[in-house]
Amino acid sequence: MHHYTQESRLGNNIVFLHCSGYSATIQQWRGEMVSFEEARSIILSSVQVSGVEHVHLLEAAGRLLAADMVAPWDMPMWNNSAMDGYAVRSADCRQLPCRLDVKGFLPAGSQADGVTVEAGCAVRIMTGAPTPEGCDAVVPVEETDNGQGVVTLNEPVAKGQHIRLCGEDVPAGMTFLRTGTLIRPPEVNMLATFGKGLVPVFRRPTVAILSTGDELIELGRTPEAGEIINSNTLSLAAAVQEVGGIPHIIGIARDNRESHLEKIREGLKADALITSAGVSAGDCDMVRDTLKELGAEQIFWKVAVKPGGPTAFAMYGAVPVFSLPGNPVSTMITFEEFVRPALLKMQGHQRVVRPLFKAVLRESLKKKTGKVQIVRVRLEREEGRWYADSAGNQQTAILKTMVNAQAIALLPSESGSFAAGDEVDVHFYGNYIELE
Ligand code: AMP
Ligand code: MG
Repeated sequence: MHHYTQESRLGNNIVFLHCSGYSATIQQWRGEMVSFEEARSIILSSVQVSGVEHVHLLEAAGRLLAADMVAPWDMPMWNNSAMDGYAVRSADCRQLPCRLDVKGFLPAGSQADGVTVEAGCAVRIMTGAPTPEGCDAVVPVEETDNGQGVVTLNEPVAKGQHIRLCGEDVPAGMTFLRTGTLIRPPEVNMLATFGKGLVPVFRRPTVAILSTGDELIELGRTPEAGEIINSNTLSLAAAVQEVGGIPHIIGIARDNRESHLEKIREGLKADALITSAGVSAGDCDMVRDTLKELGAEQIFWKVAVKPGGPTAFAMYGAVPVFSLPGNPVSTMITFEEFVRPALLKMQGHQRVVRPLFKAVLRESLKKKTGKVQIVRVRLEREEGRWYADSAGNQQTAILKTMVNAQAIALLPSESGSFAAGDEVDVHFYGNYIELE
């Protein structure tokens, strides 16, 4: 299948393992509850890289290179001086102090054609200027008397010193960047160095965002009794943007079939669709039925995770549909754990899951077995170890704890209790970047 070709093109270093096995057996999850790990793997094996486009170099920063880049010329393009100083013949400089006649001047940007260092002579040369014929060393100005007509050298001169050789960085024809490389400032510099103004990168997926519910009003008006502001659309759009996707806001589907059909149909035109709410077992929850009516293939419904249990995943052709629970905390957490990796993979990323590390719990914790429990924590580093504290009330209605969290602890499904001092897996969440 197409996405396997893409994967192998990106190399085997893919963080999610055993993915290729899932497609073949996807039937077995149709509409059923899956484990946290299965949910991720199924999603990641279902989504494909979004295709390739050519963008201006500056726009390519932060994107993934979609082709190997081959050097069109040697870099450096010619032998050149690494210092401001004098181009000399090292054989002339054995006896110190040594005096040479200065004949000629090569500033950066000049050409060395026709310039030769004659025996007993030196050519004044600036950093980056091509080294002239006859020269096999450059003497930095600091190691001389800076003479104009005649220069006196005070330090020994080694053959080849301070000369950068043609092609020593990258020879012509060498692959200097590989497909799948994240384009950071160093890659930008290298691409610019080789004249690559237009760069092939994997496309940023368009991601339709749809909220559902009769209780929702759009931002801009103070809610009256029973109303709540549609905050999920905005927070999902911000999250999509943060990972490089292009959010398409579809608005609100009201709790009736026609409205759901109209809005979901519109959402399915994007590269991916995220819906929020209407996916539990409530009377008004009609996202999954509508998707089915429109011909989407339901892959799983419900994940053994808390919060985020009612999450559903479907495919409409090549368009992944993430149906997230409506509770804002659950929406954000399920985006983070399930949607974010998928959107990264669609853009060609190979490391799509945040790295886990161990943190020591400060307090004991109890949970139900059979589900992964997600705990919002604050972190502190002491004597080389990370310590995790609850970021506050863990109820899913508490937004404040989401704001205060620096990391997410993933408590494994099989364990029911944790003592203070136990180590658990955590990953950073959001913009927490203080590493030490
Ligand atoms: P539901 O899954 O439709 O029962 O929604 C679960 C909870 O999430 C309810 O309390 C909703 O009011 C809330 N909710 C649903 N959609 C949104 C939204 N777009 N923004 C903020 N809260 C929402
Ligand atoms: Mg609802």
